[in-house]
Amino acid sequence: MIILVINCGSSSAKYQLFDIENKRSLARGVVERIGQPGSRLEHQSDGGAFKSSIKCPDHYYAIEIIVDALTDKNHGVISSKDAIAGIGHRVVHGGEEFKHSTLIDGRVIRSIEKFSALAPLHNPPSLAGIKACAKILAHVPQVAVFDTSFHQTMPATAFMYGLPYSYYKKYGIRKYGFHGTSHRFVSEEAARILKRPLASLKLVTCHLGNGCSMAAVDGGKSVDTSMGFTPLDGLIMGTRSGDLDPAVVLYILKKEGISPQKVNDLLNKESGLLGISGVSNDMRDILKGARLKGQGSIRCKLVLEMFAYRIKKYIGAYQAVMGGLDAVIFTAGIGEHNPWLLKKMAKELKNVVSKKTKFLVVPTNEELLIAKDTVEIIKGKSKNF
Ligand code: ADP
Repeated sequence: MIILVINCGSSSAKYQLFDIENKRSLARGVVERIGQPGSRLEHQSDGGAFKSSIKCPDHYYAIEIIVDALTDKNHGVISSKDAIAGIGHRVVHGGEEFKHSTLIDGRVIRSIEKFSALAPLHNPPSLAGIKACAKILAHVPQVAVFDTSFHQTMPATAFMYGLPYSYYKKYGIRKYGFHGTSHRFVSEEAARILKRPLASLKLVTCHLGNGCSMAAVDGGKSVDTSMGFTPLDGLIMGTRSGDLDPAVVLYILKKEGISPQKVNDLLNKESGLLGISGVSNDMRDILKGARLKGQGSIRCKLVLEMFAYRIKKYIGAYQAVMGGLDAVIFTAGIGEHNPWLLKKMAKELKNVVSKKTKFLVVPTNEELLIAKDTVEIIKGKSKNF
């Protein structure tokens, strides 16, 4: 069974094609700079990799380009688009409605549209991708896999904010959490690696990429997570501030006399690793900077310590929330490639966690999980993952 996984962002469309029976990824790639000058396609398969400049004014074109690349006579991996049995879409926000991945129909499309209010940068491009697939690959069933679903098991004590209750009822203001597909994938992998049933494990999963979030996963269910109403909350990230006293925002607005949009940019695009170091949002540059001498290195060292300190705080908090801790899992770009961070956590927490607590790196694979959910759903097996 051949499954196409699509992840549409505002100006990009990533894709991966899976042969499920043979557990193989046949091809992957990305269309970049959609709707901008200089659009390009990067495509990779066993047959090689290629890049090409293309015209791509919108997501509809992007999906056409992807299907063409997959079926191309020279570098394609399937003979015709009819080989595709199902399409799995990454969708960021499913609000409180989608607790599981789901088959896409008109009602689901309307709900994803509704939740665009909560994820204005993310849900609209996903919808554009879904609508394009419905035309270009008509009759191929489509499945939505939401970043928020996995965290829908959080209890109200964890997801409510201390605001007047009416704001939750009126606007849906609460903690939703994100990166759910990754937290779920690495939890399941960790259970396999530890050779224990997931239902018996208390895990803290740390997804540390450009965006960073942690989750407390008790018996396979997310019971708390560090991102909140938006992906701005929690850990220090590449360019996002993470946890902040909300009064700081009001103070900056008053002092700088800038617009709410400018403050939004400040918190989302100019803060975090970049804002503190003044060097880069990329962990590799920060590590390089910290090894240099002079003023620059002081701020790189500081942000490295801040980054690790906040992770440590959340591990401690989540251990308390779950009443135990079997393993801490590190994943995504920073989590998978920085063994020093894992060692530092294990060392600094040795008197806090039990002797049996494991610290593990588990590479994430959100696309594979999306493909698997897609198969389960289109085979009509289950809606409960
Ligand atoms: P995204 O959230 O965009 O998917 P990634 O999971 O690719 O991001 O993570 C990006 C982060 O991972 C960057 O900060 C980058 O510096 C870091 N990273 C990637 N590879 C390495 C590496 N080999 N060593 C250290 N950091 C790395």
